[in-house]
Amino acid sequence: MSSFVDHARIHIRAGKGGDGAVAFHREKYVAAGGPDGGDGGRGGSVIFVPDDNLTTLMDFRYKRKFVAEDGANGQGKRCAGKDGEDLLVRVPAGTLIRDTESGALMHDMSDGKPYLAAKGGRGGWGNIHFATPTRQVPRFAKPGLPGESRDITLELKLLADVGLIGFPNVGKSTLLSVVSNAHPKIANYHFTTLFPNLGVVYAEEGSSFVMADIPGIIEGAADGAGLGHDFLRHIERCRLLVHVVDVSGSEGRSPAEDFDIINSELREYSGVLAERPQIVVANKCDILGEDRSAVDVLRERAEEHGYPFLELSAAAHKGIDRLVRLCMQKLSELPPPEPFTADYIAPEPVLDGAEDVVIKKSEGIWQLEGDWLKRVAATVNFSDYESRLFFDRVLRKAGIFDRLESMGIQDGETVCIYDLMFDYRY
Ligand code: GDP
Ligand code: MG
Repeated sequence: MSSFVDHARIHIRAGKGGDGAVAFHREKYVAAGGPDGGDGGRGGSVIFVPDDNLTTLMDFRYKRKFVAEDGANGQGKRCAGKDGEDLLVRVPAGTLIRDTESGALMHDMSDGKPYLAAKGGRGGWGNIHFATPTRQVPRFAKPGLPGESRDITLELKLLADVGLIGFPNVGKSTLLSVVSNAHPKIANYHFTTLFPNLGVVYAEEGSSFVMADIPGIIEGAADGAGLGHDFLRHIERCRLLVHVVDVSGSEGRSPAEDFDIINSELREYSGVLAERPQIVVANKCDILGEDRSAVDVLRERAEEHGYPFLELSAAAHKGIDRLVRLCMQKLSELPPPEPFTADYIAPEPVLDGAEDVVIKKSEGIWQLEGDWLKRVAATVNFSDYESRLFFDRVLRKAGIFDRLESMGIQDGETVCIYDLMFDYRY
């Protein structure tokens, strides 16, 4: 059985920033020029882009690593290294992006915008930045910072306005094929729908909506395929449910009982989903016998819930227009779907490892380097005041300032940490 892929675990890594260059201006007959080493380029970022044409995460089944390009190193003659290319990763518009380790939601792509999930590392400064009147020959530059990397889980929750629910064989796929441009498999046996199907329904006056047909609740569970409630995730986003019930008695079931069972399945899965507005559709009215009592009982049941009720024949195309109009009208009264709210909190950088930071004084500048510092600096935006304050706190807590002072740093001396340079104040 080929399975529908609605989960994928991947690893993403943004590009490293290029290193800054140490170089000096050279010209014929000129003895010693000034420093002219350029900066390293920024590493490329990994950016997810929603794509309405994708409806599965199939593409992620075999490709699991997504790495953006590194920035190029700086060069002499003030040449900055080229920035690394961003890596754009296309995903279905209903994709949720989760942090694999915590399971927390980082972003819901249904807001329709690109999402930057791993930021490229900043390029290191070339030695042109380090020239001062008193230090004309800076023989150092800075390495680039690493890009962010993460383990991510993609989870698909389809985007559809209307979701079809109901027992297997009641005519959901038939209905979708009649009202929309979708061509789902239709067969007179259970377990036909293993893939969710989406169809666009064109209503009058040029308006349209998207309808989803998902594998039935019961068919999955009965199949033992482990589908069960799992597929209900796909109708979680639907604003309106069309509850299809077979009233013909051709399968020997009670329509009102079917209706109740599906509703209790919904409730079991999610209280929110159970509250979703429904339109109840009595299907297969074309082969209804003399006895219409089953239809009447179902109608009463629907009215008890306050749901509109329609008699229909998907196969004979009867009642279709009324259903489409009613869906359109209900949708116009309902609020647009809200994207899920992200609850991921980026972890604070760990303080372990700060003791490995190397401090050296070179050509009048206090230079700090080390993996720990790289990791912390990569998360800081030095052009932002709040962000610099945070960086300051982390360094203080890690004892870096104490070490500088015990090594004899003087008030007003210059400290250089990757692409941040500042005057030290006691
Ligand atoms: P699903 O499992 O709910 O998707 O049901 P299908 O759309 O696959 O339909 C199951 C069977 O019922 C198929 O043989 C359809 O041709 C038949 N069917 C669907 N709608 C109608 C209808 O309105 N009238 C009649 N007589 N048969 C229908
Ligand atoms: Mg079906």
